[in-house]
Amino acid sequence: MWPMSEKVKYSLVEAIKSNGIFEGTKIYTHVNLSVVAKNGPKKNATKVLVFAELLHVGDRPNAMALTSFHLLDEKKQLAGCRHLAQNSFGNKDKDMNHCYACTDVIKHPDGARYKAGHFVAMSYYYED
Ligand SMILES: [Zn+2]
Repeated sequence: MWPMSEKVKYSLVEAIKSNGIFEGTKIYTHVNLSVVAKNGPKKNATKVLVFAELLHVGDRPNAMALTSFHLLDEKKQLAGCRHLAQNSFGNKDKDMNHCYACTDVIKHPDGARYKAGHFVAMSYYYED
């Protein structure tokens, strides 16, 4: 058994895709990364796909807080739903299970695990 107190560390293999999201006064980024474990039972095993959400803080371009970091199980990847956003929804309508700011290129965990991207209205993230 690997002790629970030992956190598995991951090393970045590559950043695959990212999408900047303007939501209210905040700027988030959704990004897919592939990583390998640096320790733990799966050390140096195959690459794992990760979803991360970053919140930009302050004025410096590289100042970001990590608001979500999840390994994506192959069966639990939810594609971005940008193509499903509709004009018929108002700017207050949210779907907490999916992301409407990203295209289907970016894979997400269950929507409860990240903060941004839940507004369904097409006009919220995109102007015609
Ligand atoms: Zn997203």
